[in-house]
Amino acid sequence: MGKVYLIGAGPGDPDLLTVKALRLLERATVVLHDSLVSREVLALIPHEAEVIDVGKRAGQKLLTQDEINSLLVSHASHSEIVVRLKGGDPMIFGRAAEEIEALRAAGVPFEVVPGITAAIGAAAEAGISLTDRRASSQIVIATFSRGADASSMNWANVTRCSTLVLYMPGADYAEVARQMRDAGLPDDLPCVIVSNATTPRQEIRRTTVAGLDQHHKLAAPALMIVGRVAAHHVEEIAEAYWPEKSSRRSTSQTKIS
Ligand code: SAH
Repeated sequence: MGKVYLIGAGPGDPDLLTVKALRLLERATVVLHDSLVSREVLALIPHEAEVIDVGKRAGQKLLTQDEINSLLVSHASHSEIVVRLKGGDPMIFGRAAEEIEALRAAGVPFEVVPGITAAIGAAAEAGISLTDRRASSQIVIATFSRGADASSMNWANVTRCSTLVLYMPGADYAEVARQMRDAGLPDDLPCVIVSNATTPRQEIRRTTVAGLDQHHKLAAPALMIVGRVAAHHVEEIAEAYWPEKSSRRSTSQTKIS
């Protein structure tokens, strides 16, 4: 029996792969990858390897999660090195848990090789320190709830000392801004949108919670970094910020309960 490697492909730039990820890719017999994996990383897969795109195209899933799980198990029965390649890190919004459970249930050996998650790649490109002793002591990596399987985001975790990194913000930025306002985030809180981080297609836009209302959507994949750390000069806004936070927070919490 072979082994399945759940490998993080990083945010896009192939130079951001780990040495371990690259070594395994070069020896892979089969590679099952998502659509999120950049073309630059896909170009590193050896020609001899069988390559299966299990990702989504035009909103249509090519394969269901159950089908992907079965493919992993069946390939491991006759291939030595089965690589499951996922964008960023496999354990962040990557459905790794479901695949790990299926592999455990089938008794297939596996290993996880971490990758640089999009938040870290995007922050590096935008020159934003996600924590900052003057302004942010916690990072909230989150996404909005979508679909029946998602659990809803807990906005109470986002305080004036947080950096919020919002994955999969969707196309409706005005709705994102509305949710942020409802949660008590101030209108002028900096928000940086990064699309296709670390690839030649990268775009970075600096705006605010209020500015999001009018902002056109950037190409997917994109994420938002929201918080005082996203300002050019953190100290200018470090004090006396987020004035209405506590009163608005209690209003929205009352509504929820
Ligand atoms: N496992 C991945 C995340 C998968 S969810 C990781 O760790 O990065 C998909 C979301 O990730 C996208 O909607 C987007 O919000 C974010 N993302 C992935 N790659 C990105 C990139 N290169 N630039 C900006 N956002 C990216």
